[in-house]
Amino acid sequence: MTMNADTNPLVFPGLRDKRVLVTGGSRGIGRATVQALAASGASVGVAFRSAADEADRAVAEARRLNPTGEHWHEAGDLSNESGCAALFERVDQVFGGLDGFVGNAGIWNAQPRPLGELALDEWRHMIEVNLTSVFLTTREAALRMRANGRIVLVSSTAGQRGEPDHSHYAASKGAIISFCKSIAGELGPSGINVNSVAPGWVDTEMSANPLQTEARPHIEAEIPLRRIATAADLAGPICFLLSDAARHITGEVINVNGGSVLCG
Ligand code: NAP
Repeated sequence: MTMNADTNPLVFPGLRDKRVLVTGGSRGIGRATVQALAASGASVGVAFRSAADEADRAVAEARRLNPTGEHWHEAGDLSNESGCAALFERVDQVFGGLDGFVGNAGIWNAQPRPLGELALDEWRHMIEVNLTSVFLTTREAALRMRANGRIVLVSSTAGQRGEPDHSHYAASKGAIISFCKSIAGELGPSGINVNSVAPGWVDTEMSANPLQTEARPHIEAEIPLRRIATAADLAGPICFLLSDAARHITGEVINVNGGSVLCG
């Protein structure tokens, strides 16, 4: 097997003994971020909605990579205040504060939803899960941080150039970017950095349809680097923004998409 970030998580400076919460840490990008954080010596809290077996595995991997860290998971729907309150009660009990927060949980549906067919319920659900959850969790996370705190919010290429037939998704992600830039200005004087990582196509369950279909070569052909990102390709930039190496970066969006926004 080739040794790379997919099989051997990279190690980032300044994360040893940091307490970091990752939403959507049970699968995909969040799971790879949990691994890279643990490999870097951090303690990691994994928030997820319902995939308990996956969350168990994520915590077991973190314990293997950093046996002295405190790793845990908490289930709950973060699009409502009660799910969010339960998560941060656990943060208070186990961590007693936070050094880093990764707002990554989200949904996307492969089914095209042209504007004329998009129902209000679908719009509301997308906005609540992708955007309201980020507002609720980031508000609580920031209250538990001191100087040198780090917040990374996962947005999307779609939030910058739009995504035809997925306007509700694109709107939720575009709003995450403007939220990120706004609170970077608010929290900067307290020494808290806020940035966003914007993935293009990433090989996870979310994008299995279309990436696990015959459409994949066509999608790859439209990306300048001619490859689809792995979850580890996103975990690296997320951990970089949480690390000492990024201490003077705030209010930025790092595109991790193989150059695909260049060709939109
Ligand atoms: P994924 O593999 O589908 O994982 C989604 C994660 O979010 C899971 O841990 C899931 O928990 C959690 N989650 C979903 N709804 C939730 C809710 N209401 N409350 C709490 N947790 C919830 O997704 P991914 O591909 O890693 O995507 C991660 C982020 O990257 C998302 O914000 C997504 O929009 C963004 N992104 C992904 C791509 C891509 O191509 N994959 C591209 C651009 C942006 P359970 O495991 O319990 O369901």
